[in-house]
Amino acid sequence: MSKPFVMLVDDEAEFIDTTTKRLEKRDLKVLTAYSGKDALEKVSSNRNLEVMILDVKMPGMDGLEVLQEMKKKYPLIEVIMLTGHATIESAIEGMKAGAFDYLMKPCEMDQLVEKVQEAADKKRSQDEKIEKARMEKVMASRGLS
Ligand SMILES: [Mg+2]
Repeated sequence: MSKPFVMLVDDEAEFIDTTTKRLEKRDLKVLTAYSGKDALEKVSSNRNLEVMILDVKMPGMDGLEVLQEMKKKYPLIEVIMLTGHATIESAIEGMKAGAFDYLMKPCEMDQLVEKVQEAADKKRSQDEKIEKARMEKVMASRGLS
């Protein structure tokens, strides 16, 4: 199985740097973005992205707004929200809006990697189901079902 492809979105450069290094060490392919706008632009040119790790509290577009945009445009990419105690309400809203899960900051690296893996597995299984349904549609249209 290929490495999960994740995007880490956070306004804190230091957090991005250390977390990216740790995730890469655990064999994940990591793309980074420092704002919601930056993240959405990068997703449009990286359509094979599987999981987004998204900070809730960011200046400009916050995590919840980014999530809503993601679910509208790229519903199959799984999103894990990172939240502090102050923004837990946004994480709950995020879950209702289709986030895969949320984690409290600071989060344990093991826990984050495990969540990313679960989210990537879900994405891959969804992709497989869609592919299978497409094949069945083709077969049916040719009278082969
Ligand atoms: Mg932040």
